Amino acid sequence: MISATCKGGGSFGVPVSKVVCVGRNYAAHARELNNPIPDTPLLFIKPNSSVVPLSGELLLPRGKGSVHYETELAVLIGQPLSDATENDVKTAIAGLGLALDLTLRDLQSELKSQGHPWEKAKAFDGSCPLSEFIPFKDQNLDAQSFQLVINGELRQQGNTSQMLIPVLPLLVEVSRHFTLCPGDVVLTGTPEGVGELQVGDVLELQGPGELTTRCVVG
Ligand code: ZN
Repeated sequence: MISATCKGGGSFGVPVSKVVCVGRNYAAHARELNNPIPDTPLLFIKPNSSVVPLSGELLLPRGKGSVHYETELAVLIGQPLSDATENDVKTAIAGLGLALDLTLRDLQSELKSQGHPWEKAKAFDGSCPLSEFIPFKDQNLDAQSFQLVINGELRQQGNTSQMLIPVLPLLVEVSRHFTLCPGDVVLTGTPEGVGELQVGDVLELQGPGELTTRCVVG
C-alpha cells in the first residue's frame, strides 16, 4: 500500500500539493441534485490542508449545516503531467484508492445560488479523507467498482464504466488546466446515493482490488 499525505514524505518523498476534483461525472448523480450535465468536465481543487486519512475517526465541521459524503475513486499521480496524452497519463498513474469528497451541502447551495466559488463548501480542512492506494499496474481503469456502506446499509455503488468522462480522458483534460505533480490526487466524481453524515455513523468502503477501509464519524 502507498499513501498520499500532506504532512511531508508521502510515497514519493514529496507532499500532496493539491487534489483536483470533477463534479457531475456520473449522470445519475447529476440528476439526483437537479444539476445539468456539463459539456466539459467541471473541475475544482481541494488544497493539501483538506487531506486526512479515510480511517479511524472522521471529524466533521460543526455548526455549518449538513455535511454530505460523496464516495469517489481516487487516482494518485506519480509523474508530472502537463498537456498530457492518454499514454502519458497511463504511465504517470501511481495508484488507485478511495476518497470522500466531503461537501457542506447547505453552504454549497447558497454559494451556487449567488454565483460564488464553492471553496468554503468543498475545500475546508478535513474535506478530503483519502484511503491508502493500491499500486497501479495497468488495471482496466474503465472497470473499477467501489461502494460505501453506512451502518450496514449499502448507500453508494459505482463503477468507472458509468463515468461520463472516463479516467484517462479526464486526466488529459485536467492536465490541460493544472499541472499534476507527483503526490497529487485526482478525484473522479461520485455516483448517485450521496447523503448526509451523522455523528456515530460507521462507514465501510470497498474499492479497487482488495482495498477496504472503515471509519466512524466523530
Ligand atoms: Zn465529488
